[in-house]
Amino acid sequence: MTATPITGAGAGAGSAAAEAVVDLAAATLRLGGLAACLFLRRDGKQLVEYPPRDDGLVLPVQSTFSGSCVTTARALVADVDEDLLHPRERALMRRHDARVWLAVPVMAGDEEEAVGLVVGLKTTPLSADTGGRERTVLSLAANHLAMRWRVFELEQSLASARSRARDLEGEAEGLLQSLRTAAIVLTPENRIDDANRAAELLLGFQVDAVRGRLVEEAIAHEAIVDLLRNVGATGGGGLPEVRFGEDGNIVLEVRIAPVFDGRGELRRRIVVFNDTTLLKQADELKTEFVSMISHELRTPLTSIKAFASTLLRTDVGSVEDQREWLQIIDRECDRLTALINDLLVISRLESGQRLPMQFGQFQLQPLLEDVVEAARGLATQHEFRLEVPDDLRLEADAEKLRQVFNNLLTNAVRYSPRGGEVAVQATAEGSEVRVEVSDHGVGIRPEHLNLIFDKFFQVDGSTTRRVGGTGLGLYLTRQLVEAHDGRIWAESEPGVGSTFVVVLPRRRHVRDRLGT
Ligand code: ADP
Repeated sequence: MTATPITGAGAGAGSAAAEAVVDLAAATLRLGGLAACLFLRRDGKQLVEYPPRDDGLVLPVQSTFSGSCVTTARALVADVDEDLLHPRERALMRRHDARVWLAVPVMAGDEEEAVGLVVGLKTTPLSADTGGRERTVLSLAANHLAMRWRVFELEQSLASARSRARDLEGEAEGLLQSLRTAAIVLTPENRIDDANRAAELLLGFQVDAVRGRLVEEAIAHEAIVDLLRNVGATGGGGLPEVRFGEDGNIVLEVRIAPVFDGRGELRRRIVVFNDTTLLKQADELKTEFVSMISHELRTPLTSIKAFASTLLRTDVGSVEDQREWLQIIDRECDRLTALINDLLVISRLESGQRLPMQFGQFQLQPLLEDVVEAARGLATQHEFRLEVPDDLRLEADAEKLRQVFNNLLTNAVRYSPRGGEVAVQATAEGSEVRVEVSDHGVGIRPEHLNLIFDKFFQVDGSTTRRVGGTGLGLYLTRQLVEAHDGRIWAESEPGVGSTFVVVLPRRRHVRDRLGT
């Protein structure tokens, strides 16, 4: 039994549905010569007068005369003396001086039980041959009500379908807007139906201004228009890619999702533009990194192998030669170790760990002298000048500072291929120490001055390529300086030379000393 009550939107007292029932009751009353006529609708275990009123009749379905009419789905007639009549039924009869209770079920749909009943009260008793007219009129009213009932049901399900559709539209709109990825909705004819903010920014239009327009009228980017026009309705067959932006540096992966209606007809196409530029770049960077690291590892290994093989042949070279080759092997091994150490530090930093620091008090001069000496070994055409006060003491991690200045001096030598002076100058400035490493090399363009401290950044000039390198040195250098609460920057004039400035606190930060 699915007796949907005539309630909900538009079916309360005073609604069009209620007015129709009131009119019907009035007509039935008149035509049937009745004392009263009302409609009771079934609401679960109760029969409730409709349209609803404060003092309206409410009866249980069980053990009432009207209840049996509904459950048996048969028209019934009861005399006022009938035992089955419920006290409330009898009270109503008394109020209208009625002697007879006529009940006709309202059958809506295919249910076996009625959805309610039409009640007619008569003041005169029914004889065997009378009552036919009243019954006919009541049956007509019941049929009419049943018809109305179906209309109400249809109206109701239509209203709830409409409100569900509105909810869904709202949800879809919310979803579309909440996407950070650009997304547009197209009609099957390739007209713009909707777009989110990200798509407006990407495609350079205002959706309200282009709604209903064909994609070629709305979108200025030829590649995207071509793709949208040529990709099948369902967008099947892989994920097309579009290159976008000034020099095609933005890569968009396009996903197209068809939306079908209940009959399987294409209603909309949702097109999502996924910006995969960063992924692509990361991918390219990874490939480049692997090939660069392999190259950097192979170069020292090749010379180690060559000199070791030569040394193994007992008949070659003087003792001096052999000593020189062993020194080369030793130096190349140091290069390999340094590179592997750099990689380990980077992987440590990448995984979010802090660098382990070993602070100590020491003089800066011997440390810088060592580093300059090591650089001298690499350089053939350079002169070195070191200016550092003898008594300049510092609280720092000596090994890490050695790495910092080593990197800066190695770069100073590498990037001044025509030689020239490489100067290291240290001065005390209040509570800080300032160390400058300058060269007369190729220099750095102003727009690269900050970028050189980024991971893998290399100025893509022939010099850089020729001298090799990983693009990790300055990144690490900056990390090491910052681990001392220091600062590093570069000043340079292309073609003239560069100066790298490192400023470090002379004493370890109080916070670090407390180990917090
Ligand atoms: P790399 O291993 O390539 O030397 P670095 O991180 O040490 O990596 O340096 C990044 C880039 O900065 C280098 O590729 C180079 O272009 C530039 N650079 C670093 N030091 C100097 C310098 N002293 N003079 C000119 N360019 C430099």
